[in-house]
Amino acid sequence: ERVGYALIGLGRISVEEMLPALGQARMSRPAALVTGSPEKARVVARRYGIPEDSIYSYQEMERMRDNPAVQAVYIGLPNAQHREFTERSAAIGKHVLCEKPMANTPEEAAAMIAACERARVKLMIAYRCQYEPYNREAIRIVRSGELGKLRFIEATNVQSSGTASQWRFSRALAGGGALPDIGLYCLNAARYITGEEPVDTFARSYSPPGDERWRDIEESVAFSLRFPSGVMANLLCAYDAFNDKTMRLHFERGTVEMPNAFAYHGQQMYVSRREGDLTARVQRRMEEKNQFALEIDHFSDCIRADRRPHTPGEEGAHDQALMAAIYRSAAEGRPVELPKPPGSTRGP
Ligand code: NAD
Repeated sequence: ERVGYALIGLGRISVEEMLPALGQARMSRPAALVTGSPEKARVVARRYGIPEDSIYSYQEMERMRDNPAVQAVYIGLPNAQHREFTERSAAIGKHVLCEKPMANTPEEAAAMIAACERARVKLMIAYRCQYEPYNREAIRIVRSGELGKLRFIEATNVQSSGTASQWRFSRALAGGGALPDIGLYCLNAARYITGEEPVDTFARSYSPPGDERWRDIEESVAFSLRFPSGVMANLLCAYDAFNDKTMRLHFERGTVEMPNAFAYHGQQMYVSRREGDLTARVQRRMEEKNQFALEIDHFSDCIRADRRPHTPGEEGAHDQALMAAIYRSAAEGRPVELPKPPGSTRGP
């Protein structure tokens, strides 16, 4: 029996990625919709075989308490609403898969963890890249030592944002600009690639003047992280540059390049290493799998087997604490020491 999800919010991520992905999932299915647009919801419900009486408004979603087809929710709302809907879902006994960034502040993240613990429901943050095969292969290469010790990470997540998704240009709704939206991928990757927690950061943020879009939020952030083993990460995110989501890992005896590392599709991997007098650059191919389906099936598996998710609330909460410190470094123009998480942030 598949785990039934209520999708809360029918924006781009829910409709264009998660609902189609559920068609490829093996342990998860859409069971209800929570929305402010009942007409849109009826079209979506018909398309995915969701009963009409399982469409709820935001105000009355507590009625889902009595719908046994819904065991969990998937929250695809603007960042400022993640806390409220996590708390309300937990209070009616539903497990929570919440989109990234987890929240707008470390305090909100802590409240979400506490609410789910109180209600004895599971909480997972939708860090899809941690379920994606190429990123997992990169982690495997680091742990195996096959290219020697990892020394440096470079990761870029830049895009041309246009003026879509107005809420992203509001600090109140988004919690910030490029950093929590797309820089978070670079930050989280530096943590899962090293398997370590960074000890300090040095950041610069910039917004080109004269552009309405950056009145309230930053356009770009460049930041470095230093890890206990000595690995350094140089990370860049920006809202007004041609799309590039490349990660590069520099080892003692080789380089791993990953174009599209953080994209929905089209991941690639090139491994360069010394062969005789030459440097050989070889493409490593993995089977492409739908990372949204892998992600949600992982959560379903954890619900059924009563296990801690690989990316629980604690993983998201630590990124919130790190982002707050990154902003502080940029504001003060100096390196800033980073807080340590209270325990391990990642499940098996
Ligand atoms: P979107 O703007 O396309 O959709 C947001 C949805 O929230 C819409 O259905 C909108 O009607 C609804 N909504 C409810 N209250 C709102 C309000 N006060 N203001 C604006 N919209 C409101 O956004 P999206 O791109 O789908 O992003 C939703 C969430 O998913 C965000 O947290 C975002 O960071 C995350 N996201 C994750 C990924 C990923 O790859 N994991 C990709 C995109 C977005």
